[in-house]
Amino acid sequence: MQDHVTPRRVVILGGGFAGLFAARALRRSPVAVTVIDRRAHHLFQPLLYQCASGILSEGQIAQPLRAVLRRHHNVSCLLAEATDVDVEARLVHARRPDGGALALPYDDLIVAVGMRQSYFGHDEFAAHAPGMKTLNDALDIRRRLYRAFEMAETAPDAEERQQWLTFALVGGGPTGVELAGQIREIAGHTLEREFQTFDSAQARVLLFEGSDEVLGAFGRPLAHRAARTLQSLGVELHLGTKVTDVDAHGLTVQDRDGATTRFEVRTVLWTAGVEAPPIAAALARATGVTQDRAGRIAVEPDLTIPGHPEIRVTGDVMSLNRLPGLAEVAMQSGAYAGRVVRHAVEGRTKQPKPFKYWDLGSAAYIARGRAVVKAGPLHLSGATGWLAWLFIHLAFLTGFRSRLGAVLSWSVAFATSSRRERAFTQPDADAPAGRAPGPKPPLSPP
Ligand SMILES: Cc1cc2nc3c(=O)[nH]c(=O)nc-3n(C[C@H](O)[C@H](O)[C@H](O)COP(=O)(O)OP(=O)(O)OC[C@H]3O[C@@H](n4cnc5c(N)ncnc54)[C@H](O)[C@@H]3O)c2cc1C
Repeated sequence: MQDHVTPRRVVILGGGFAGLFAARALRRSPVAVTVIDRRAHHLFQPLLYQCASGILSEGQIAQPLRAVLRRHHNVSCLLAEATDVDVEARLVHARRPDGGALALPYDDLIVAVGMRQSYFGHDEFAAHAPGMKTLNDALDIRRRLYRAFEMAETAPDAEERQQWLTFALVGGGPTGVELAGQIREIAGHTLEREFQTFDSAQARVLLFEGSDEVLGAFGRPLAHRAARTLQSLGVELHLGTKVTDVDAHGLTVQDRDGATTRFEVRTVLWTAGVEAPPIAAALARATGVTQDRAGRIAVEPDLTIPGHPEIRVTGDVMSLNRLPGLAEVAMQSGAYAGRVVRHAVEGRTKQPKPFKYWDLGSAAYIARGRAVVKAGPLHLSGATGWLAWLFIHLAFLTGFRSRLGAVLSWSVAFATSSRRERAFTQPDADAPAGRAPGPKPPLSPP
């Protein structure tokens, strides 16, 4: 009789960049890998704003996780949200989408759950100012953007029309800058001559940022160039301001002197901060590990949690040497964690070298033909920055079909200013009462 040995069980929480690269590093290893994610897709977050602004479709930036990993015969994917970790019993507790419970045993646990939007203790702002972390967020933003122009067309008076034609972005990091540039392009080019009661190019875009510059992480020279580019596109920069209130009709900001100003704006988008998802706090409670102010988990140089060599934390949710929340950090740390497990399974006894991040740089797209790229001593902006941006994003987009689709969509958008993905959904006012999301009622007998 054949002797069946249970392979070592590796559970990966999260199928973002870090989780995916961890699973890939284990591809040829005799281990049983389970990737648990609360979404069924792997999302290319850096291009979310292109989905939100109608250049790319949701299918071009999100691939079914199980399709991405279909050739990894030792990997299974589960749609569930991890809620707790029992470190004594080595079990992950998870909730299925219908509320059902799952408990998954592990020998190694790789945590790659990323970060979520933070409203700095004002979660009530979220209803009026969506963030941009998920596919839902991008589609919600797309709906709000294009709907605002439709609402302006039928506004009863000039005052309300102007409110619909004013857009506010909170946060001057890459996402805020990218969205600001996109909205000006939509207003000035994509929607040109489509409306009867107003000139869409008159739409105002206001960008609020607490520090003195946008794209501060790119260094002063590129930050200045980005600010000049935004201003030349017509984006109004409000630097050194803090948003203190947001409601359905606008927002209130405070400047450094404490003076407050109210802006009447019907579309507010929030890109200002991140915090760890609740599972990070659950893990901290279970292991006693410390979290930083945003909830990231402090790890050892080999990405393990102190006292728990079987648990590694990777990607945005790990706190190590103030590494930034970048896709490249997530990919490299995920791959490192997977590799260390693989080496252990192969019986290599040598202590793994500490994780070392190779900084390949970062890029932010501002508008058609204009981007900033920082890679070591290389600082690019304008058209060369944009070409570099194009190359980087094509190289990293998951899947050949996504790449091909993106090239086609970008060619059309860049050549003609048109956007193919402008469709948005909204509830029908006359939908039968009770047709709420959820299971359909049973059919009545004939
Ligand atoms: C709008 C935007 C633009 C960006 N642009 C850039 C850029 O230009 N360049 C760059 O380098 N970086 C960029 N980033 C950052 C980059 O996307 C992140 O650094 C990267 O995605 C982090 O990878 P991760 O795997 O750690 O987390 P994520 O990619 O966020 O993946 C985490 C996964 O965990 C899942 N998850 C969370 N909680 C649970 C749970 N409890 N149970 C199960 N699953 C869970 C989530 O569904 C998700 O799939 C951008 C991010 C955003 C939001």
